[in-house]
Amino acid sequence: MAKTIVYKFGGASVKDSAALKNLSDILRNRLRNNLVIVVSAMGKSTNSLEGILARKLEGGNFSRDCAILNQYHLEICESLFPADHVIFAQLDNYFIQLENDLAKPLSRENYDEYYDRIVGYGELISSRIVMEYLCLVGLVVLWQDARELIRTNSDFRFAKIDFEKTRANCQNKLKPILEKYPVLTQGFIGSDSNGRSTTLGREGSDFTAAILATSLDAGSVTIWKDVPGVLNADPKIFPDTELFTELDYRQAAEMTYYGASVIHPKTIKPLANAGIPLFVKSFLNPEADGTKIHGAAEPNFIPTIVLKKDQILVSLKVTDFTFIEEKHIHLVYEQLQFLKLRVNMLQTSAISISIVIDSQLFKLEQLIEKMRGDFEVRYNEGLELLTILHPDEDSISDNIFGHEILLEQTTRNTFQVVRKVRIS
Ligand code: ASP
Ligand code: MG
Repeated sequence: MAKTIVYKFGGASVKDSAALKNLSDILRNRLRNNLVIVVSAMGKSTNSLEGILARKLEGGNFSRDCAILNQYHLEICESLFPADHVIFAQLDNYFIQLENDLAKPLSRENYDEYYDRIVGYGELISSRIVMEYLCLVGLVVLWQDARELIRTNSDFRFAKIDFEKTRANCQNKLKPILEKYPVLTQGFIGSDSNGRSTTLGREGSDFTAAILATSLDAGSVTIWKDVPGVLNADPKIFPDTELFTELDYRQAAEMTYYGASVIHPKTIKPLANAGIPLFVKSFLNPEADGTKIHGAAEPNFIPTIVLKKDQILVSLKVTDFTFIEEKHIHLVYEQLQFLKLRVNMLQTSAISISIVIDSQLFKLEQLIEKMRGDFEVRYNEGLELLTILHPDEDSISDNIFGHEILLEQTTRNTFQVVRKVRIS
């Protein structure tokens, strides 16, 4: 029996009616049973839903934003489906449910749980439209609610996977269906043991593809992107990029750790553990090979540049004329863990600890509040963290020239700076 394969299509590959037609072209010759198709929310819908939440939280009127989001999906449907198609009623229904959910009270205390229920609509709506469209053009796929498969804990917004339960769900519920039909489902969403919706972290659909692949003992995963594969820098930011034809799991994981957005950071580990190859291919040029990430790739030492935006540098200075010791670092890490903040870079000096973190709603103020008793706290916002793996002289000088550098760190294989955004 052919092994299951998993395809993942992100927001850009389903962003408008032309994209959906392209997706159906890709699937036309590739559709088979034992194929799982994972889709994200259309275009920037998740950002729109986050915007709606932000507006609600500040007590503003969000109904116009909902109407715009509705209209966006409606226009896609109008250009793809006949006027009497069932998708229009389904779309109405989703937006009625969304507005009902948004009528419930939101506060900072229930924000994370509320967030997961609301932003998940992006994926539910998208997957429903894609599934109906594929069926309309003769590509029969079944729709599956990913929340019935992906079991998580209740860490809303960053839910952790219960791999054992998820595997059992996939083997018992999904596998028998897949033996007959291809199945289309959502990325990013899951549910906890009480049936409440959870999400796996922004851009988490790649991770969903990897979880489903390992739970189904799949033969491969393919992520379809708007780039030719994994490049040594983001082509939207840097000129003269180079395509990796293959990458070792470890090198790919390292790139994602430093912030390469081509693949979600959690995607590699489960695939590497199970030895499942990951292909990154272009949905604009589906016949091209793209990048194969697997365990047997030849090592390479091409300078690889990763830029993480929206960074905050927090400096914590001891106030009592002592020096930095383990207990200070411990204090800081304890709070970071409590706030679920990851340190992207850390540097200590005799009297201060500098940490670089992602900018996240409420988190900075909470951190400052907690640290103020033990440290004098200062911070800079709106920074960039630049990492170069296998740096050479050119790659370093090209990327620091003209920037104000706030922090620098060099190890044998990596060069990192925190820099201010250049105002050109
Ligand atoms: N739609 C979600 C997001 O934009 C998940 C994903 O795209 O992978 O974060
Ligand atoms: Mg997305």
